[in-house]
Amino acid sequence: MKCLLTSIPLIMLLIPGFALACLENQIYVREHQVAPYVRVDQTPVSGYRRNGYCRDLDIENYFQDNSSQKIKGSSLKLKKWSEAEKKIVQSHIDKLPKWLGRYRFGEVLRAETDGTRNPAATVPYTKTIIFFDPFFKSKNQRDILIHEVSHIAVWDLDVSAAEEFAAVSGWSTNENQTKRFPPTNPIKADSVKSVTEDFANHIEIYYSNEGILRKHNPKAHEFIRKLVLQKENP
Ligand SMILES: [Zn+2]
Repeated sequence: MKCLLTSIPLIMLLIPGFALACLENQIYVREHQVAPYVRVDQTPVSGYRRNGYCRDLDIENYFQDNSSQKIKGSSLKLKKWSEAEKKIVQSHIDKLPKWLGRYRFGEVLRAETDGTRNPAATVPYTKTIIFFDPFFKSKNQRDILIHEVSHIAVWDLDVSAAEEFAAVSGWSTNENQTKRFPPTNPIKADSVKSVTEDFANHIEIYYSNEGILRKHNPKAHEFIRKLVLQKENP
């Protein structure tokens, strides 16, 4: 259940305007070069630099058998969806908590494995979720999907909320705030990888076993409870 952008430094959490400018049903298309082309009426159009913009995502386009995305740091071999697998995933998407259900995905991809036993992975920047073989053998598919969508949702936290979450979850910084240290008693072992991983774990456990979260860290539980309440009733 990893985020494929683990190389993003934590500081990204402190800089608004990453995915934040777009709505839940949109994706940010980075500034890019448009090649020269000829219009239907034969008018030549010279190449230009197109500014970044938010593009609406098409819900009809979810289950793709391949992708033009270059997914870094991963030897993914994408494979074809079966109709049964699409139904399974769609049924979980349909039952997501309301606020997470507002997110649209750029691509929902299928691959055998990412080389680990991960059931799924997310590319938050392109709002892409990839499902691996272990997902379909898993008993906690709902928890896995909630976790993955939380990897996308975390980028919608504003700076103060992200900082507050990190603090209540037990992350600390050095004196000049250039380094961050993970909680000594993390809710899950891989929470120490990043604040975003920790956040996804918290949301997952909030929905799968709220009692554990409350007991483990009442402050973090209270933060998540209030956040969900606010997101469910915007
Ligand atoms: Zn994760």
